[in-house]
Amino acid sequence: MTLEAFGVVPGMKLPWKSAPKSGNAELHERLSPEQYRVTQKGGTERPFSGRYHDAKDDGTYRCIVCAAELFDSGAKFDSGTGWPSFTEAIDTTNVSLHKDRKFGIVRTEARCGGCDAHLGHVFSDGPGPSGERFCMNSASLQLDKATHDRPS
Ligand SMILES: [Zn+2]
Repeated sequence: MTLEAFGVVPGMKLPWKSAPKSGNAELHERLSPEQYRVTQKGGTERPFSGRYHDAKDDGTYRCIVCAAELFDSGAKFDSGTGWPSFTEAIDTTNVSLHKDRKFGIVRTEARCGGCDAHLGHVFSDGPGPSGERFCMNSASLQLDKATHDRPS
């Protein structure tokens, strides 16, 4: 029995090829629909809708999917855009940059270096020495609050 017997022709997009990769069912369970849409489908949350755009807590922002360390709260600044914004990543290997040509505009997309989850975009109008502004989605992040000032 060959695939042709099922009416499948070579080059045809097989249904299971576009089905979620293994592990995505688990992600569907674990992430909210918004977190899933943003991290797995490259979506963008509405400005001022996320939980971190205005957060001032100290700590480490990790990937919501794989918990890789992405941004330190010390690099966070109020960009006024309604998305959490950072001047730099903790480690350039943890945040990978890609050219994004969606909507006919060339932008730099930031993805998690650990699991390839979509995080947001990087612009060149940041206030830090690098001039970069990492414009992230709250839905892609989880804040691991600093514990060093707790009494031991
Ligand atoms: Zn990740």
